[in-house]
Amino acid sequence: MRPKILDPLYSSINTISGFGPHYTALFKNFIGDRYIDLLLHLPNYSSERLNIKNIKEKYLNKNVIIKATVLSKWTTYKKPRISIASVKFDNTNISIIYFNVKKSWFDSLFVKGRALTIVGNLQFRNKKFQIVHPELVERKINAKISNYDSSYPLTTGLHKNKLKQAILKALENLPKLNEWIDIELVKSKKWSSFNNSIKNIHLPKDKNDNKNYNLFLERLAYDEALSRQLALNLIRLHKKRKRKIPKVSKNILIKKIKNILPFQLTQSQKDVLIEIQKDLTSKERMSRLLQGDVGSGKTIVAFISLLHVVEAGFQGVLMVPTEILSQQHYKFFKKYSDELGISIELLTGKNSNKKVVLHNISTGRSDIIIGTHAIIQESVNFKKLGLVVIDEQHRFGVYQRLNLLKKSTQADFLVMTATPIPRTLILTNYGDMDLSIIKNKPKNRPLVKTITVNNNKIVKVINTINLTLDSKEQIFWICPLIHESENLNLIAVETRKKTLEKYFPNKVSIIHGKMNNEEKEENLKDFIICKKPILVSTTVIEVGIDIPEASIIVIEHAERFGLSQLHQLRGRIGRGTKESICILLYDDKLTDIAKKRLTTMKNTNDGFVISEKDLEYRGPGELLGSKQSGDQSFRILDFNIHKPLIELANSEAKIITQNNPNLLGEKGDAIRNLLYLFDQDQAIELINIG
Ligand code: ADP
Ligand code: MG
Repeated sequence: MRPKILDPLYSSINTISGFGPHYTALFKNFIGDRYIDLLLHLPNYSSERLNIKNIKEKYLNKNVIIKATVLSKWTTYKKPRISIASVKFDNTNISIIYFNVKKSWFDSLFVKGRALTIVGNLQFRNKKFQIVHPELVERKINAKISNYDSSYPLTTGLHKNKLKQAILKALENLPKLNEWIDIELVKSKKWSSFNNSIKNIHLPKDKNDNKNYNLFLERLAYDEALSRQLALNLIRLHKKRKRKIPKVSKNILIKKIKNILPFQLTQSQKDVLIEIQKDLTSKERMSRLLQGDVGSGKTIVAFISLLHVVEAGFQGVLMVPTEILSQQHYKFFKKYSDELGISIELLTGKNSNKKVVLHNISTGRSDIIIGTHAIIQESVNFKKLGLVVIDEQHRFGVYQRLNLLKKSTQADFLVMTATPIPRTLILTNYGDMDLSIIKNKPKNRPLVKTITVNNNKIVKVINTINLTLDSKEQIFWICPLIHESENLNLIAVETRKKTLEKYFPNKVSIIHGKMNNEEKEENLKDFIICKKPILVSTTVIEVGIDIPEASIIVIEHAERFGLSQLHQLRGRIGRGTKESICILLYDDKLTDIAKKRLTTMKNTNDGFVISEKDLEYRGPGELLGSKQSGDQSFRILDFNIHKPLIELANSEAKIITQNNPNLLGEKGDAIRNLLYLFDQDQAIELINIG
């Protein structure tokens, strides 16, 4: 239950007069409609207001505070209705101008002879001084006005004054809270209390405050980081407490598969398998993240882990993000399943034999089930689910993962990433999981060369392809990503297919997201068996597609893709034995960031380096696809600036949860407050569960 002391922060703005359903909805979509949401919506900068005693040219177009007396006023009747008050300041007349405001309000404020404090932008137009729509008008001549004005990120339909009005109200409701950060740390960092930091960031009082802005901000960013790290640690503790039946296996299946595989496992693969098997045989539930660059061989690691579980008498699931990929994995597993004497099932949203498959799963007839999200989202009943592997997927948020775990109490849990994730993001988003890394790719992987070519030389590129086709090469041709629109992307692939067919009749296959499965599969097959050695595609082939002999990839409008995505696409080649080439076509008008991206692609093939750069250039949302999962975004933390704070929060959170895992006592209460303030309170519920 939420601590009572926080209640005032959880009122909705609909309790403020003038904030009806319209504004409540607007705020809900924008930042949230609770007072706490307003408090954590920080200004991006604050500008100075000049408290002036007289009029000078240097004050023009500046934000000023003046103390003036009303001389006269009038309102026009035509639309737009203009209301003007003439006020006297330093023996000069200044026009205070409004458009379309309520006449009654205007008249009641600008009463002849009344002294007012007015804040706004001083302008000189048509030989007259004026202030249009002052930011603030106080009925007192000596009203206390902050010398700084904060500017906030806004949204359509929201005026800054309206936002500020709500924030002021929220600030009034800020209760006095006990410090949750270690006091020595607060001192050494020269931080202020949470309350002080919030207040001063919204309403800087003097020049000094403005200078201290970074310290206030840092404190709040740390709070946010700490709350997330604490939550992750609590989740971690909760998982450790959850016991399961150890999955003991004699590893007969594993020995068998190792004998049939056409390759030897790499040392890295062996290492991570030892870690995974240790988890599987232990009483604690596994929740592990497997990192490995594109092509490092994660699939076989998943397969072997699943075999372990099957031999221990359980069922296993491999969940993948696309249908194509589920089919690919199914085929790969199927190759070996007969010889191993196990049964493998494919389950997607579109199974025609779904009834049979579901029956096989619920009776335990199928050992390994491969499929898309449908597997765990639909009400599939497993006889004895022991392991869930999620492949090529980092789109699950922390709490979504947790819910998944709660669903199947005996299952262990392995998540495999599509591309490496930078350490900072691992900390903030996977801190509840153990980490295994496949450090090296299989040896003898061919060189992948990356070149960038101006789009206007596309014909040259096509001619080069002409030469290579003779030597039975297979070529991916990725079409431009046009905004987010599926339809436009579709037109792009289809047009490109037509052009290429003019050069290479009957040699061009095509796949895109809007095709049905049979069509996709058939076209992909044409490509795989080299009947049509060119595959024009949208980014549907981005994840996981494994066609070892393909050795060329052309990516049109490469400047529009993010780094990790380009790396994923490039990862489609260089998987077999042939030397490979990645051709990035770019448009003339390259932005600086696009240039940087393309250069990075040319200079490195290391997914770990690339993901760091991607985080730097684009931020965590893009990298993790937070649009899908929702809970990865931070309000204040900035990954480029606050990296050290995240590390610090990580180690502090460990200490706190070690010393006080149930968050008891006064300090525990303070920490609970922190978790609520930053919406990490779901983790608190876990403290009292088993
Ligand atoms: P990713 O990590 O990108 O999912 P995959 O598991 O698809 O990579 O593996 C890429 C390719 O490398 C596949 O064709 C796979 O069969 C092959 N492969 C996996 N492990 C090894 C190995 N130890 N030696 C040689 N080839 C391997
Ligand atoms: Mg893969």
